[in-house]
Amino acid sequence: MRFLCPICGQELREAHAWLACSFCGILEEGEWGCPNGHSQCEGCRLAEPAEIIERVCAQSQESDPVQIADLLMSHPSFHAYGPEHHLLVAPVLLAALRNIGRPINAEKIEMALRRLADIPVAVCASRGDCGAAVGVGCALSLVVGATIHSGWERSLALRGTAHALERLADLGGSRCCKQSVYASIEEGCRLFREELGLELPSHTIQCRFAAKSPECRKDRCVYYF
Ligand SMILES: [Zn+2]
Ligand SMILES: [Zn+2]
Repeated sequence: MRFLCPICGQELREAHAWLACSFCGILEEGEWGCPNGHSQCEGCRLAEPAEIIERVCAQSQESDPVQIADLLMSHPSFHAYGPEHHLLVAPVLLAALRNIGRPINAEKIEMALRRLADIPVAVCASRGDCGAAVGVGCALSLVVGATIHSGWERSLALRGTAHALERLADLGGSRCCKQSVYASIEEGCRLFREELGLELPSHTIQCRFAAKSPECRKDRCVYYF
């Protein structure tokens, strides 16, 4: 029987060793290991999307939100397309901000997951919305403490979602949840930098999921390489 590493796709080898989980970092005795050093503990292997997001965001030291998102999207609970992508953007942005020294606690990340849990599938086409884009507004809201009574904070949250949605519309084509996540993270990083002076690492994003996305637009997508 062959087992493949969910993170890099390499065939796993029998290891029988203590391995650090690539998702949550805990050490667990495992029978199979990836030649590139990846491993997943039992808890992470069985986790649903919200749980794996919480586990990864709790322990990650990474300040590049795209790196955190790529790790999460390689988890077996993330499919090519699906509402699990709605949950991802805000927690990843918040974890990256915490890792550059902002006061983001676990409660804020849990709150983001709760706020984003009820967005239905296919809202991009059915009502001109996108869970990934809403994640930008949600992250900005949680960082500045927006409420229905606040002024510029509420405007900033609205602007976050609006700009991410506009970017998705400009990218065009049929839906791709990876593209939505990447574009939303880019817009989120831009707004955190321009509006709040918070600089997260930025670089050209290269999508690792094209081969697993049956409707990938390939060289018509800005993230395809
Ligand atoms: Zn691997
Ligand atoms: Zn784990």
